[in-house]
Amino acid sequence: MKSEMHNDILKILVTEEEIQARISEMGAELYEKFQGKNPLFLGVLKGSFVFMSDLVRACQVKSDVEFIAVSSYENAMASSGRVKITHDIQQDITGRHLIVVEDILDSGNTLAFLKEYFKTKGAASITIVTLLDKPSRRTKAITPDLAGFTVPDEFVVGYGLDYCQQYRNVPYIGVLKPEVYSH
Ligand code: 5GP
Ligand code: MG
Repeated sequence: MKSEMHNDILKILVTEEEIQARISEMGAELYEKFQGKNPLFLGVLKGSFVFMSDLVRACQVKSDVEFIAVSSYENAMASSGRVKITHDIQQDITGRHLIVVEDILDSGNTLAFLKEYFKTKGAASITIVTLLDKPSRRTKAITPDLAGFTVPDEFVVGYGLDYCQQYRNVPYIGVLKPEVYSH
């Protein structure tokens, strides 16, 4: 496929094939845990939208999908530590089994905040699923229930993850060339 972005990538950390194989396993694991429970897949926008769409099709349980949008990064590469809900959930989640779907678990600020928020809204259970886990930068006591891949302390893009809102449609997980940041 022609790509305007591939040339900006320094190295690929996780290939498309590796992502799809891992998502199949994750879908099967979630199936065993949630069959008969009618879970709600709750994606954290924007980063999770690509992962969410593959994950729900890899897990054929009766379920529905919902999204919440938060911002903490404000186009920078380091977390501000503050989490703001920019688009709230549109349904009552009282008594629901939530599968919270994230692109990457980094400091843990976002998910620590959201976990508390969903608890106060009366969720029956909260399962945290992230495509990527960057445990080296964790500042909050939060661990994913299911993670696709552990990544080193590098800023990654692709498969939903952005740099300044770009590169979300790159089909693999990669690291940008240093000169891309200097523009
Ligand atoms: P946390 O709140 O755990 O620090 O970070 C969660 C959010 O920060 C992620 O959902 C993601 O939007 C952003 N983030 C953290 N690390 C990276 C990264 O390496 N690349 C990109 N593109 N976003 C990241
Ligand atoms: Mg995100």
